[in-house]
Amino acid sequence: VSRKPREGSAQHVENGTNVEEKIEDKAAQSLFNKMIHTSLVNNANQVEVLQRDPNSPLYSVKTFEELRLKEELLEGVYSMGFNRPSKIQENALPMMLAEPPQNLIAQSQSGTGKTAAFALAMLSNVIPANKWTQCLCIAPTYELALQTGKVIEQMGKHYPEVKLAYAIRGNKLEKGMTIQEQIVIGTPGTVLDWCSKLKAIDPKKINVFVLDEADVMIATQGHQDQSIRIQRLLPKECQMLLFSATFEDSVWKFAERVIPDPNIIKLKREEETLDTIKQYYVLCNDNEEKFTALCNIYGAITIAQAMIFCHTRKTAGWLAAELIKEGHVVALLSGEMTVEQRAAVIERFREGKEKVLVTTNVCSRGIDVEQVSVVINFDLPMDKDGNADNETYLHRIGRTGRFGKRGLAVNMIDSQHSMDILNQIQEHFNKKIYKLDTDDLDEIE
Ligand code: ADP
Repeated sequence: VSRKPREGSAQHVENGTNVEEKIEDKAAQSLFNKMIHTSLVNNANQVEVLQRDPNSPLYSVKTFEELRLKEELLEGVYSMGFNRPSKIQENALPMMLAEPPQNLIAQSQSGTGKTAAFALAMLSNVIPANKWTQCLCIAPTYELALQTGKVIEQMGKHYPEVKLAYAIRGNKLEKGMTIQEQIVIGTPGTVLDWCSKLKAIDPKKINVFVLDEADVMIATQGHQDQSIRIQRLLPKECQMLLFSATFEDSVWKFAERVIPDPNIIKLKREEETLDTIKQYYVLCNDNEEKFTALCNIYGAITIAQAMIFCHTRKTAGWLAAELIKEGHVVALLSGEMTVEQRAAVIERFREGKEKVLVTTNVCSRGIDVEQVSVVINFDLPMDKDGNADNETYLHRIGRTGRFGKRGLAVNMIDSQHSMDILNQIQEHFNKKIYKLDTDDLDEIE
Protein backbone atom coordinates (compact mmCIF):
# COMPACT_ATOMS: atom_id res chain seq x y z
CA VAL A 1 0.00 0.00 0.00
CA SER A 2 1.68 3.12 -1.11
CA ARG A 3 -0.58 5.91 -0.04
CA LYS A 4 -1.17 5.67 3.65
CA PRO A 5 -3.47 8.21 5.22
CA ARG A 6 -1.99 10.92 7.35
CA GLU A 7 -2.27 10.18 11.01
CA GLY A 8 -3.78 12.33 13.66
CA SER A 9 -6.46 14.34 11.92
CA ALA A 10 -9.39 13.16 13.90
CA GLN A 11 -12.06 15.78 13.37
CA HIS A 12 -15.14 14.55 11.65
CA VAL A 13 -15.02 16.97 8.83
CA GLU A 14 -15.00 15.96 5.26
CA ASN A 15 -14.30 18.34 2.42
CA GLY A 16 -14.89 21.27 4.66
CA THR A 17 -18.47 20.41 5.54
CA ASN A 18 -19.46 19.27 8.96
CA VAL A 19 -20.95 15.84 8.84
CA GLU A 20 -24.33 15.75 10.54
CA GLU A 21 -24.78 14.28 13.96
CA LYS A 22 -27.05 11.57 12.64
CA ILE A 23 -24.44 10.01 10.43
CA GLU A 24 -21.88 10.42 13.21
CA ASP A 25 -24.02 8.20 15.39
CA LYS A 26 -24.73 5.65 12.75
CA ALA A 27 -21.18 5.57 11.49
CA ALA A 28 -19.72 5.29 14.98
CA GLN A 29 -22.12 2.47 15.73
CA SER A 30 -21.14 0.75 12.54
CA LEU A 31 -17.44 1.16 13.19
CA PHE A 32 -17.92 -0.15 16.70
CA ASN A 33 -19.70 -3.18 15.32
CA LYS A 34 -16.84 -3.85 12.97
CA MET A 35 -14.35 -3.61 15.77
CA ILE A 36 -16.12 -5.92 18.16
CA HIS A 37 -16.84 -8.61 15.60
CA THR A 38 -13.62 -10.55 15.59
CA SER A 39 -15.45 -13.61 14.35
CA LEU A 40 -18.66 -14.39 12.51
CA VAL A 41 -21.98 -13.68 14.15
CA ASN A 42 -24.13 -16.75 14.56
CA ASN A 43 -27.32 -16.69 12.56
CA ALA A 44 -29.60 -19.66 12.06
CA ASN A 45 -31.94 -17.95 9.61
CA GLN A 46 -32.23 -18.89 5.97
CA VAL A 47 -30.60 -16.72 3.36
CA GLU A 48 -33.13 -15.37 0.87
CA VAL A 49 -31.92 -15.08 -2.68
CA LEU A 50 -33.74 -13.24 -5.41
CA GLN A 51 -32.11 -13.76 -8.77
CA ARG A 52 -32.37 -11.23 -11.51
CA ASP A 53 -32.82 -14.08 -13.96
CA PRO A 54 -34.90 -16.66 -12.12
CA ASN A 55 -34.17 -19.25 -14.79
CA SER A 56 -30.44 -19.24 -14.33
CA PRO A 57 -29.16 -21.90 -11.97
CA LEU A 58 -28.46 -20.80 -8.42
CA TYR A 59 -24.92 -21.52 -7.39
CA SER A 60 -23.79 -21.78 -3.86
CA VAL A 61 -20.48 -23.01 -2.48
CA LYS A 62 -19.55 -24.79 0.71
CA THR A 63 -15.80 -24.37 0.32
CA PHE A 64 -13.46 -21.64 -0.85
CA GLU A 65 -11.78 -24.12 -3.23
CA GLU A 66 -14.94 -24.35 -5.29
CA LEU A 67 -14.55 -20.70 -6.16
CA ARG A 68 -11.33 -21.37 -8.09
CA LEU A 69 -9.66 -18.39 -6.55
CA LYS A 70 -6.11 -17.45 -7.39
CA GLU A 71 -3.64 -19.31 -5.19
CA GLU A 72 -2.52 -16.02 -3.64
CA LEU A 73 -6.04 -15.21 -2.56
CA LEU A 74 -6.87 -18.66 -1.26
CA GLU A 75 -3.77 -18.34 0.88
CA GLY A 76 -5.00 -14.95 2.02
CA VAL A 77 -8.37 -16.38 2.99
CA TYR A 78 -6.85 -19.23 4.98
CA SER A 79 -4.29 -16.98 6.62
CA MET A 80 -7.23 -15.00 8.02
CA GLY A 81 -8.44 -18.19 9.65
CA PHE A 82 -11.48 -18.69 7.42
CA ASN A 83 -12.21 -22.37 6.86
CA ARG A 84 -15.42 -22.12 4.91
CA PRO A 85 -17.64 -19.42 3.49
CA SER A 86 -20.09 -17.77 5.85
CA LYS A 87 -23.77 -18.13 5.21
CA ILE A 88 -24.14 -15.13 2.98
CA GLN A 89 -20.76 -15.76 1.35
CA GLU A 90 -22.02 -19.18 0.19
CA ASN A 91 -24.40 -17.41 -2.16
CA ALA A 92 -22.83 -14.01 -2.60
CA LEU A 93 -19.36 -15.16 -3.63
CA PRO A 94 -20.38 -17.30 -6.65
CA MET A 95 -22.65 -14.48 -7.77
CA MET A 96 -19.96 -11.84 -7.42
CA LEU A 97 -17.34 -13.97 -9.15
CA ALA A 98 -19.62 -15.11 -11.98
CA GLU A 99 -18.92 -14.53 -15.66
CA PRO A 100 -20.38 -12.31 -16.93
CA PRO A 101 -20.31 -10.13 -13.80
CA GLN A 102 -23.55 -9.77 -11.90
CA ASN A 103 -24.81 -6.90 -9.81
CA LEU A 104 -25.77 -7.52 -6.24
CA ILE A 105 -27.62 -5.92 -3.37
CA ALA A 106 -26.87 -7.73 -0.12
CA GLN A 107 -28.27 -7.13 3.31
CA SER A 108 -27.30 -8.82 6.53
CA GLN A 109 -26.44 -7.68 10.01
CA SER A 110 -22.96 -6.62 10.95
CA GLY A 111 -20.54 -9.48 11.46
CA THR A 112 -21.92 -11.89 8.88
CA GLY A 113 -19.08 -11.67 6.38
CA LYS A 114 -20.07 -9.00 3.88
CA THR A 115 -16.81 -7.05 3.95
CA ALA A 116 -14.70 -10.15 3.56
CA ALA A 117 -16.89 -11.17 0.63
CA PHE A 118 -16.53 -7.99 -1.39
CA ALA A 119 -12.85 -7.66 -0.51
CA LEU A 120 -12.36 -11.05 -2.11
CA ALA A 121 -14.48 -10.11 -5.10
CA MET A 122 -12.45 -6.96 -5.73
CA LEU A 123 -9.11 -8.67 -5.32
CA SER A 124 -10.16 -11.48 -7.67
CA ASN A 125 -11.11 -9.04 -10.33
CA VAL A 126 -7.88 -7.12 -10.51
CA ILE A 127 -5.43 -7.59 -13.36
CA PRO A 128 -2.20 -6.81 -11.50
CA ALA A 129 -0.24 -5.89 -14.62
CA ASN A 130 -2.61 -3.01 -15.29
CA LYS A 131 -1.37 -0.04 -13.34
CA TRP A 132 -4.63 1.80 -13.02
CA THR A 133 -7.64 1.72 -10.75
CA GLN A 134 -9.98 -1.15 -11.56
CA CYS A 135 -11.97 -1.55 -8.38
CA LEU A 136 -13.56 1.27 -6.43
CA CYS A 137 -15.17 1.03 -3.02
CA ILE A 138 -16.92 3.87 -1.21
CA ALA A 139 -17.63 3.96 2.52
CA PRO A 140 -19.43 6.62 4.59
CA THR A 141 -16.58 7.83 6.78
CA TYR A 142 -12.84 8.07 7.04
CA GLU A 143 -12.70 5.50 9.83
CA LEU A 144 -14.95 3.02 8.06
CA ALA A 145 -12.89 3.33 4.90
CA LEU A 146 -9.72 2.58 6.87
CA GLN A 147 -11.32 -0.39 8.58
CA THR A 148 -12.45 -1.91 5.30
CA GLY A 149 -9.11 -1.13 3.70
CA LYS A 150 -7.46 -3.16 6.43
CA VAL A 151 -9.50 -6.20 5.47
CA ILE A 152 -8.53 -5.83 1.81
CA GLU A 153 -4.88 -5.51 2.81
CA GLN A 154 -5.03 -8.61 4.99
CA MET A 155 -6.83 -10.62 2.38
CA GLY A 156 -4.34 -9.53 -0.28
CA LYS A 157 -1.29 -10.15 1.87
CA HIS A 158 -0.02 -12.92 -0.38
CA TYR A 159 -0.81 -10.98 -3.53
CA PRO A 160 1.63 -8.09 -3.26
CA GLU A 161 1.32 -6.99 -6.90
CA VAL A 162 -2.10 -5.65 -6.07
CA LYS A 163 -2.01 -2.26 -4.41
CA LEU A 164 -4.59 -0.25 -2.55
CA ALA A 165 -4.98 3.51 -2.23
CA TYR A 166 -7.14 5.47 0.20
CA ALA A 167 -9.21 8.31 -1.19
CA ILE A 168 -9.80 10.05 2.11
CA ARG A 169 -9.23 13.48 3.54
CA GLY A 170 -5.59 14.17 4.21
CA ASN A 171 -4.43 12.24 1.15
CA LYS A 172 -3.62 15.13 -1.10
CA LEU A 173 -2.74 14.47 -4.72
CA GLU A 174 -0.35 16.48 -6.85
CA LYS A 175 -1.95 18.04 -9.91
CA GLY A 176 -1.79 15.79 -12.94
CA MET A 177 -1.07 12.67 -10.92
CA THR A 178 -2.84 9.45 -11.83
CA ILE A 179 -3.51 6.65 -9.40
CA GLN A 180 -1.72 3.43 -10.22
CA GLU A 181 -3.18 1.39 -7.41
CA GLN A 182 -5.63 -1.16 -8.74
CA ILE A 183 -8.02 -0.80 -5.82
CA VAL A 184 -9.20 2.47 -4.32
CA ILE A 185 -11.26 2.78 -1.19
CA GLY A 186 -12.53 6.10 0.04
CA THR A 187 -15.29 8.42 1.09
CA PRO A 188 -17.65 9.78 -1.56
CA GLY A 189 -16.42 13.38 -1.60
CA THR A 190 -12.75 12.59 -2.06
CA VAL A 191 -13.48 9.80 -4.52
CA LEU A 192 -15.55 12.17 -6.59
CA ASP A 193 -12.71 14.71 -6.54
CA TRP A 194 -10.21 12.10 -7.65
CA CYS A 195 -12.49 10.95 -10.46
CA SER A 196 -13.81 14.20 -11.86
CA LYS A 197 -11.94 17.25 -10.63
CA LEU A 198 -8.43 15.84 -10.41
CA LYS A 199 -8.89 13.12 -13.02
CA ALA A 200 -6.55 10.91 -11.04
CA ILE A 201 -8.83 7.94 -11.61
CA ASP A 202 -10.48 7.18 -14.93
CA PRO A 203 -13.94 6.03 -13.89
CA LYS A 204 -14.49 4.45 -17.28
CA LYS A 205 -11.84 1.88 -16.42
CA ILE A 206 -13.54 0.69 -13.23
CA ASN A 207 -14.74 -2.92 -13.42
CA VAL A 208 -16.06 -3.34 -9.88
CA PHE A 209 -17.86 -0.71 -7.83
CA VAL A 210 -18.73 -1.38 -4.19
CA LEU A 211 -20.99 0.80 -2.10
CA ASP A 212 -20.54 -0.29 1.49
CA GLU A 213 -22.71 0.57 4.49
CA ALA A 214 -25.50 1.95 2.34
CA ASP A 215 -27.73 2.55 5.35
CA VAL A 216 -25.12 4.77 6.96
CA MET A 217 -24.31 6.40 3.63
CA ILE A 218 -27.82 7.65 3.01
CA ALA A 219 -28.08 9.20 6.45
CA THR A 220 -26.62 12.31 4.83
CA GLN A 221 -28.10 13.74 1.68
CA GLY A 222 -24.68 14.92 0.55
CA HIS A 223 -23.27 11.41 0.58
CA GLN A 224 -26.27 10.04 -1.18
CA ASP A 225 -25.94 12.59 -4.00
CA GLN A 226 -22.20 12.10 -4.31
CA SER A 227 -22.63 8.33 -4.47
CA ILE A 228 -25.09 8.68 -7.30
CA ARG A 229 -22.79 11.06 -9.14
CA ILE A 230 -19.91 8.59 -8.83
CA GLN A 231 -22.06 5.73 -10.01
CA ARG A 232 -23.07 7.72 -13.12
CA LEU A 233 -19.43 8.11 -14.14
CA LEU A 234 -18.95 4.35 -14.34
CA PRO A 235 -19.32 2.29 -17.51
CA LYS A 236 -22.50 0.26 -18.01
CA GLU A 237 -20.69 -3.05 -17.84
CA CYS A 238 -19.10 -2.23 -14.47
CA GLN A 239 -20.14 -4.67 -11.79
CA MET A 240 -22.05 -2.86 -9.05
CA LEU A 241 -22.37 -4.18 -5.52
CA LEU A 242 -24.21 -2.65 -2.58
CA PHE A 243 -24.12 -3.74 1.05
CA SER A 244 -26.18 -2.74 4.02
CA ALA A 245 -26.72 -3.96 7.55
CA THR A 246 -30.35 -2.89 7.59
CA PHE A 247 -32.99 -2.49 4.93
CA GLU A 248 -35.47 0.26 5.56
CA ASP A 249 -37.48 1.55 2.60
CA SER A 250 -35.12 4.47 2.16
CA VAL A 251 -32.12 2.17 1.75
CA TRP A 252 -34.06 0.06 -0.66
CA LYS A 253 -35.04 3.03 -2.83
CA PHE A 254 -31.46 4.22 -2.91
CA ALA A 255 -30.16 0.74 -3.73
CA GLU A 256 -32.48 0.47 -6.69
CA ARG A 257 -31.24 3.80 -8.02
CA VAL A 258 -27.58 2.87 -7.91
CA ILE A 259 -27.61 -0.85 -8.73
CA PRO A 260 -29.14 -1.73 -12.08
CA ASP A 261 -30.61 -5.23 -12.60
CA PRO A 262 -29.57 -6.51 -9.22
CA ASN A 263 -29.57 -9.92 -7.68
CA ILE A 264 -30.65 -9.67 -4.09
CA ILE A 265 -29.42 -11.56 -1.06
CA LYS A 266 -30.93 -11.08 2.38
CA LEU A 267 -30.22 -12.63 5.71
CA LYS A 268 -32.66 -11.63 8.43
CA ARG A 269 -31.42 -10.96 11.92
CA GLU A 270 -32.11 -13.65 14.44
CA GLU A 271 -35.04 -12.51 16.52
CA GLU A 272 -34.44 -11.86 20.16
CA THR A 273 -36.79 -13.41 22.65
CA LEU A 274 -37.51 -13.13 26.36
CA ASP A 275 -38.68 -16.75 26.54
CA THR A 276 -35.45 -18.11 27.95
CA ILE A 277 -35.05 -15.30 30.46
CA LYS A 278 -36.25 -15.16 34.04
CA GLN A 279 -37.20 -11.60 34.79
CA TYR A 280 -37.36 -10.07 38.25
CA TYR A 281 -37.66 -6.71 39.88
CA VAL A 282 -36.37 -5.45 43.19
CA LEU A 283 -37.87 -2.59 45.19
CA CYS A 284 -35.36 -0.06 46.52
CA ASN A 285 -35.40 3.54 47.65
CA ASP A 286 -32.24 4.98 46.22
CA ASN A 287 -28.93 4.16 44.56
CA GLU A 288 -27.37 2.97 47.84
CA GLU A 289 -30.13 0.45 48.33
CA LYS A 290 -29.86 -0.64 44.75
CA PHE A 291 -26.18 -1.18 45.29
CA THR A 292 -26.82 -3.29 48.41
CA ALA A 293 -29.39 -5.36 46.53
CA LEU A 294 -26.90 -5.84 43.74
CA CYS A 295 -24.26 -7.08 46.17
CA ASN A 296 -26.76 -9.47 47.74
CA ILE A 297 -27.65 -10.91 44.37
CA TYR A 298 -24.01 -11.22 43.54
CA GLY A 299 -23.23 -13.00 46.76
CA ALA A 300 -26.13 -15.42 46.42
CA ILE A 301 -25.76 -16.83 42.95
CA THR A 302 -23.03 -18.06 40.72
CA ILE A 303 -22.60 -15.57 37.97
CA ALA A 304 -20.50 -16.23 34.94
CA GLN A 305 -20.57 -12.68 33.72
CA ALA A 306 -22.92 -9.82 34.32
CA MET A 307 -23.78 -6.61 32.56
CA ILE A 308 -25.18 -3.68 34.50
CA PHE A 309 -26.97 -0.84 32.75
CA CYS A 310 -27.21 2.66 34.13
CA HIS A 311 -28.99 5.68 32.80
CA THR A 312 -26.19 8.20 33.12
CA ARG A 313 -22.44 8.24 32.90
CA LYS A 314 -22.34 9.58 36.43
CA THR A 315 -24.23 6.66 37.92
CA ALA A 316 -22.19 4.21 35.88
CA GLY A 317 -18.94 5.75 37.10
CA TRP A 318 -20.10 5.79 40.72
CA LEU A 319 -21.35 2.21 40.59
CA ALA A 320 -18.17 0.92 39.01
CA ALA A 321 -16.12 2.61 41.74
CA GLU A 322 -18.34 1.13 44.51
CA LEU A 323 -18.06 -2.34 43.02
CA ILE A 324 -14.30 -2.04 42.81
CA LYS A 325 -14.23 -1.06 46.49
CA GLU A 326 -16.08 -4.30 47.21
CA GLY A 327 -13.34 -6.19 45.44
CA HIS A 328 -15.03 -6.88 42.12
CA VAL A 329 -13.09 -6.74 38.90
CA VAL A 330 -15.10 -4.30 36.86
CA ALA A 331 -15.06 -2.98 33.32
CA LEU A 332 -16.68 0.35 32.54
CA LEU A 333 -18.00 1.51 29.22
CA SER A 334 -18.69 5.19 29.07
CA GLY A 335 -19.81 7.75 26.54
CA GLU A 336 -16.67 9.83 26.48
CA MET A 337 -14.56 6.88 25.33
CA THR A 338 -13.49 6.64 21.72
CA VAL A 339 -14.76 3.82 19.57
CA GLU A 340 -11.36 2.15 19.86
CA GLN A 341 -11.35 2.35 23.65
CA ARG A 342 -14.85 0.93 23.82
CA ALA A 343 -13.97 -1.92 21.50
CA ALA A 344 -10.96 -2.71 23.68
CA VAL A 345 -13.13 -2.84 26.83
CA ILE A 346 -15.58 -5.22 25.14
CA GLU A 347 -12.73 -7.35 23.92
CA ARG A 348 -11.33 -7.74 27.45
CA PHE A 349 -14.77 -8.52 28.81
CA ARG A 350 -15.27 -11.13 26.08
CA GLU A 351 -12.03 -12.77 27.08
CA GLY A 352 -13.30 -12.91 30.64
CA LYS A 353 -10.67 -10.53 32.04
CA GLU A 354 -13.49 -8.78 33.85
CA LYS A 355 -16.61 -10.44 35.16
CA VAL A 356 -18.78 -7.36 35.46
CA LEU A 357 -19.41 -4.76 32.82
CA VAL A 358 -21.03 -1.51 33.87
CA THR A 359 -22.34 0.53 31.00
CA THR A 360 -24.65 3.29 29.94
CA ASN A 361 -27.20 2.64 27.31
CA VAL A 362 -25.60 4.49 24.45
CA CYS A 363 -22.48 2.39 24.74
CA SER A 364 -24.20 -0.92 24.87
CA ARG A 365 -25.91 -1.09 21.52
CA GLY A 366 -24.51 -3.83 19.40
CA ILE A 367 -22.88 -5.76 22.20
CA ASP A 368 -23.68 -9.40 22.37
CA VAL A 369 -21.70 -11.33 24.85
CA GLU A 370 -22.90 -14.89 24.88
CA GLN A 371 -21.55 -15.85 28.25
CA VAL A 372 -23.39 -13.07 30.05
CA SER A 373 -25.84 -14.86 32.31
CA VAL A 374 -27.12 -11.96 34.35
CA VAL A 375 -28.30 -8.56 33.20
CA ILE A 376 -29.08 -5.92 35.77
CA ASN A 377 -31.06 -2.87 34.81
CA PHE A 378 -29.78 -0.58 37.52
CA ASP A 379 -31.95 1.96 35.72
CA LEU A 380 -34.75 0.91 33.38
CA PRO A 381 -34.48 1.90 29.76
CA MET A 382 -36.70 4.82 28.82
CA ASP A 383 -37.09 7.12 25.87
CA LYS A 384 -36.80 10.90 25.80
CA ASP A 385 -40.38 11.30 27.05
CA GLY A 386 -39.80 9.04 30.02
CA ASN A 387 -41.75 6.10 28.61
CA ALA A 388 -40.55 2.51 28.56
CA ASP A 389 -38.05 1.84 25.80
CA ASN A 390 -39.20 -1.68 25.01
CA GLU A 391 -36.86 -2.20 22.12
CA THR A 392 -33.82 -1.42 24.24
CA TYR A 393 -35.12 -3.63 27.04
CA LEU A 394 -35.44 -6.55 24.64
CA HIS A 395 -32.06 -5.83 23.20
CA ARG A 396 -30.39 -5.70 26.61
CA ILE A 397 -31.76 -8.92 27.97
CA GLY A 398 -33.19 -10.81 25.00
CA ARG A 399 -31.43 -13.83 23.58
CA THR A 400 -31.52 -15.26 20.11
CA GLY A 401 -33.55 -18.45 20.00
CA ARG A 402 -30.83 -20.87 19.12
CA PHE A 403 -28.20 -19.60 21.48
CA GLY A 404 -30.77 -19.00 24.16
CA LYS A 405 -28.89 -20.09 27.16
CA ARG A 406 -30.94 -19.48 30.23
CA GLY A 407 -30.54 -16.01 31.56
CA LEU A 408 -31.55 -13.85 34.44
CA ALA A 409 -32.60 -10.23 34.36
CA VAL A 410 -33.07 -8.06 37.42
CA ASN A 411 -34.71 -4.65 37.26
CA MET A 412 -34.09 -2.16 40.03
CA ILE A 413 -37.14 -0.09 40.90
CA ASP A 414 -36.68 3.07 42.95
CA SER A 415 -39.71 5.23 42.19
CA GLN A 416 -43.29 5.19 41.03
CA HIS A 417 -42.01 6.27 37.65
CA SER A 418 -39.71 3.29 37.31
CA MET A 419 -42.56 1.03 38.48
CA ASP A 420 -44.71 2.48 35.71
CA ILE A 421 -42.03 1.76 33.18
CA LEU A 422 -41.76 -1.79 34.47
CA ASN A 423 -45.48 -2.24 34.08
CA GLN A 424 -45.37 -0.89 30.55
CA ILE A 425 -42.65 -3.39 29.72
CA GLN A 426 -44.62 -6.27 31.25
CA GLU A 427 -47.65 -5.33 29.23
CA HIS A 428 -45.76 -4.81 26.03
CA PHE A 429 -44.12 -8.24 26.08
CA ASN A 430 -46.97 -9.91 27.90
CA LYS A 431 -44.49 -11.59 30.19
CA LYS A 432 -44.60 -11.47 33.92
CA ILE A 433 -41.72 -9.88 35.81
CA TYR A 434 -41.55 -11.36 39.30
CA LYS A 435 -40.83 -9.55 42.51
CA LEU A 436 -37.58 -10.53 44.13
CA ASP A 437 -36.77 -10.23 47.79
CA THR A 438 -33.04 -9.71 47.97
CA ASP A 439 -32.91 -10.82 51.59
CA ASP A 440 -34.20 -14.19 50.52
CA LEU A 441 -32.70 -15.19 47.23
CA ASP A 442 -33.25 -18.95 47.25
CA GLU A 443 -35.88 -18.73 44.57
CA ILE A 444 -33.81 -17.37 41.74
CA GLU A 445 -31.22 -20.00 41.09
P1 ADP B 1 -19.66 -7.68 7.95
O1 ADP B 1 -19.00 -6.95 6.84
O2 ADP B 1 -20.94 -8.35 7.54
O3 ADP B 1 -19.82 -6.88 9.20
P2 ADP B 1 -17.13 -9.07 8.16
O4 ADP B 1 -16.78 -9.44 6.78
O5 ADP B 1 -16.44 -7.90 8.76
O6 ADP B 1 -18.73 -8.91 8.33
O7 ADP B 1 -16.92 -10.37 9.07
C1 ADP B 1 -17.13 -10.37 10.46
C2 ADP B 1 -16.04 -11.13 11.16
O8 ADP B 1 -16.04 -12.50 10.73
C3 ADP B 1 -14.64 -10.60 10.82
O9 ADP B 1 -13.85 -10.71 11.99
C4 ADP B 1 -14.15 -11.54 9.74
O10 ADP B 1 -12.74 -11.65 9.76
C5 ADP B 1 -14.82 -12.84 10.10
N1 ADP B 1 -15.16 -13.66 8.90
C6 ADP B 1 -15.66 -13.24 7.71
N2 ADP B 1 -15.85 -14.28 6.88
C7 ADP B 1 -15.47 -15.38 7.54
C8 ADP B 1 -15.43 -16.80 7.22
N3 ADP B 1 -15.82 -17.24 6.05
N4 ADP B 1 -14.98 -17.64 8.18
C9 ADP B 1 -14.58 -17.18 9.39
N5 ADP B 1 -14.59 -15.88 9.74
C10 ADP B 1 -15.02 -14.99 8.85
